[in-house]
Amino acid sequence: MISATIPDNEDERLKALYRYEVLDTAAEKVFDDLTELASEICDTPIALISLVDPDRQWFKSKVGLDADETSRDIAFCAHAIHQKEIFEVTDTHQDTRFKDNPLVQSDPHIRFYAGTPLRTPDGHAIGTLCAISDKPKELNEHQRKALEILGRQVISQLELRLKIKEVELANQRKTDFLSNLSHELRTPLNAIVGFSQLMLKEQQASLSDKYLSFLKHLDFSGKRLLDLVNTVLDLNKIEAGKLGLDNRAVSIKPFFESIHGVIRALADEKGVTLTFSISGIQPEFILVDEVRLSQIILNLVANAIKFSPAHQTVTISVVFSQEQFTIAVKDQGEGIAESDIPLLFAKFQQVGNAKHEGSGLGLMITKSLVELMGGSIKLNSTLGKGTLVKVDIPLKLPEDKDVHKLNERTQRQYNLNTKILVVEDNGINQEVAKAIFDSLGLNIDLADSGEDALVTLQNNQYDVIFMDLHLPGIDGFETSKQIIQRLPNQIIIALTADIFAGKNDLLRQSGMIDYLSKPIDLKSLVKMLNQYCPSQH
Ligand code: ADP
Repeated sequence: MISATIPDNEDERLKALYRYEVLDTAAEKVFDDLTELASEICDTPIALISLVDPDRQWFKSKVGLDADETSRDIAFCAHAIHQKEIFEVTDTHQDTRFKDNPLVQSDPHIRFYAGTPLRTPDGHAIGTLCAISDKPKELNEHQRKALEILGRQVISQLELRLKIKEVELANQRKTDFLSNLSHELRTPLNAIVGFSQLMLKEQQASLSDKYLSFLKHLDFSGKRLLDLVNTVLDLNKIEAGKLGLDNRAVSIKPFFESIHGVIRALADEKGVTLTFSISGIQPEFILVDEVRLSQIILNLVANAIKFSPAHQTVTISVVFSQEQFTIAVKDQGEGIAESDIPLLFAKFQQVGNAKHEGSGLGLMITKSLVELMGGSIKLNSTLGKGTLVKVDIPLKLPEDKDVHKLNERTQRQYNLNTKILVVEDNGINQEVAKAIFDSLGLNIDLADSGEDALVTLQNNQYDVIFMDLHLPGIDGFETSKQIIQRLPNQIIIALTADIFAGKNDLLRQSGMIDYLSKPIDLKSLVKMLNQYCPSQH
């Protein structure tokens, strides 16, 4: 027996093989189909995709053979990878290189072998696609050609996988990048929106008209920037398949009253007439993600108002039935050309001639949210006449315990003596937090880091701890874990500017029971304090 020599470019050849990360992976149908076809076409009981490693040949796919690999020094394929074209041994018993080879002498008793080298685009033969029989044989021209074509298909499949992996990696990098960027952007926005909110709340009367108007611009611009950041992050979440719903019991009347209030303000600003109605049999509570439902309605109504001239009417109707509720938003604005309608739900699409403010992402995100809720969205429009958008959402009703929780949350007040620790490393955010809690009549203690919090807790007790997640030293997750080990009943609420960190599982595993996103929204904070720090009646 003569073993094959090692190719001159062995190191590069192995690098080319390892690039595919295919060795010792599970069988896959596409490759099995190719070996099956090779065995059919060449009319041999055995066909293999064999990859040549330093000491072995390993089979990515096999027909008619049980072994997963054999040692390289007896491998026929180790010879075949030296060839430019098909390597064919018509009868091993007549061939001095193979007649005493163990694969010839015993199982699988190879008499015939034909292998086409699997050559990567840069010319390295990483293995073969081969056809094997226990009887002597010779391939005809058609069979040789077909075997070569199938061999090229194996490489195409491996290359395709590599491309997909590269795209996935790039996507993952983009997701991570946006996640970090969200943190970086939302932290300063936290300061801008937080302070302007507080100044408007507390200093309105003392400011001159000029500075009041500056402040209102600051507040408006900060919120607009935050909207844009959130929109881009929503898109990122949708693309990463990470957009989830936080369904809770929602009391219908106050929910729609508050929505009505917001959109009436938008309509008044533009001088557009608004009609708003709710009809049908309404349950008192529904189970829904109220933030996302508001987002859907506000997106549609904001568009209707944006594309309507003053004095026209925008009509919003909400109709409840047993199975679903339908939100219809109708305007008498500029309308959309029929040919543009299919583009509307695509990314970054702004249609029509007029240049309006906007990212062109609103409808795409709206549609994704509606579909996530199991609903559907339809848009009809006539150029020059107006647009009607209808959203159907299946009705889900909360269980009694969820409603009970909601009642507790909205009726009870928080205790003004609540002892609160805020763990936050950023100096400006510390000031914002202090000011916000102060405006709610609450004093807080601050810790600059996780380590600092752990030390503080040795001598102090807190009813609730608000925990930033990105911290120097041990992060918020680890700090919470260590706190819960010592104080299993400690209430810890995550405070995070990174919306991806809103992943409930990870928070719960670290012992945090809820999260508040930064910039801190006063209303959400109050709700949370009501829930976790109720006053004792
Ligand atoms: P944007 O944030 O730019 O408004 P959308 O995805 O919400 O993005 O809308 C995409 C485009 O669809 C808008 O730029 C506009 O051209 C068109 N559009 C959406 N709603 C309406 C409407 N009610 N009337 C007229 N055009 C609309």
